[in-house]
Amino acid sequence: MSLRILRKASQTQNAKQLSSSFSKFTRSFSQLSSQSKPPSFGIAFDIDGVVLRSEAPIGGSPQVLRRLYDDSGNLSIPYVFLTNGGGFTESKRALELSELLGVKISPLQVLQGHTPFKQLVNRFENELIVAVGKGEPAAVMSEYGFKNVLSIDDYASCFENIDPLAPYKKWTTKQVKEVAARDLVSSQRVQAAFIVSDSVDWSRDIQVLCDIFRTGGLPGREIGHQPHLYFAHDDLAYQAAFPTERFGMGAFRIALESIFNRIHPHALEYTTFGKPNPFVFKNAELVLKQLVSALHDNLQVANNQANAGSYQFKTLYMIGDNPSVDINGARQAGHPWFSILTRTGVFKGKENHAEFPADLVVDTVEEAVDFVLRKECIS
Ligand SMILES: [Mg+2]
Repeated sequence: MSLRILRKASQTQNAKQLSSSFSKFTRSFSQLSSQSKPPSFGIAFDIDGVVLRSEAPIGGSPQVLRRLYDDSGNLSIPYVFLTNGGGFTESKRALELSELLGVKISPLQVLQGHTPFKQLVNRFENELIVAVGKGEPAAVMSEYGFKNVLSIDDYASCFENIDPLAPYKKWTTKQVKEVAARDLVSSQRVQAAFIVSDSVDWSRDIQVLCDIFRTGGLPGREIGHQPHLYFAHDDLAYQAAFPTERFGMGAFRIALESIFNRIHPHALEYTTFGKPNPFVFKNAELVLKQLVSALHDNLQVANNQANAGSYQFKTLYMIGDNPSVDINGARQAGHPWFSILTRTGVFKGKENHAEFPADLVVDTVEEAVDFVLRKECIS
């Protein structure tokens, strides 16, 4: 099948990149010896509104992150980025963050809203699935191991006139030309849709998703059972470059759900991932443990889950700007999480947030890390 061949090349390349960045990462860790005791703490940074606003570093983030590395540029304090954002593979995002922030960041340290989707590979590995959102949603899903994935751009382009507003839109999306692909989507049911990142064209995406869901995965056909639907997160709003918050995936979910529930006898069924889901914090804890293992035992991180599982942190710091997502999530996750709220993004209040109070409120990520390093007697 032509689509599979096209993707095979990109999957192999992605797998090679991932494996290469993984071994570089373990090498950089292995340069540190196990002379010192393993750190009893770790840090999870939110990205948007904490270390970056759009693509611009904020709150002194480059200098702050540099303090988490030794003089040779090797990581000395375990940290991850725990973001609901996404749209690009973890390897690509790690490279981009490394450039923007001026430190060496491994794909292992990048936990995005859609990262948990990889756990659904066994269920949908060979099924036709649709990936929605800005960036490269289909490449993300391919890198996770899904073998039969189309972006919603490609999927929609296989159906003539599915979007009656397309002629009025000033942008163009590439058309899938392969006859095999067009035949595939008109004969094979979509088994699941994954909202990987923010939808770019709400009107088209809501239309096409409703078509998929009400027909059991074959737009234009008879009514059928709703295929599965997964959202990377459910943030109503987020802080981008504009002074006030912008609508996020949660807003898109409300719009899609409201319309679907008006046209269909059964309410839309879906699963959301991302913060504040405690599962996300558990996973971040596990990854931080794996980083500590790599740091101190010089073991292969990927094969080290059992070893990592026995290690216990005294404190894990969540540094975020969104009370209902970052702080609420850390509070729900409980021990050993300690929440720090910055004023550089969604939250701008003078006092602590009333509904989801953080353990500490500071102006910037720099103040947050100052506090952490002082408390842990490192600075
Ligand atoms: Mg944020």
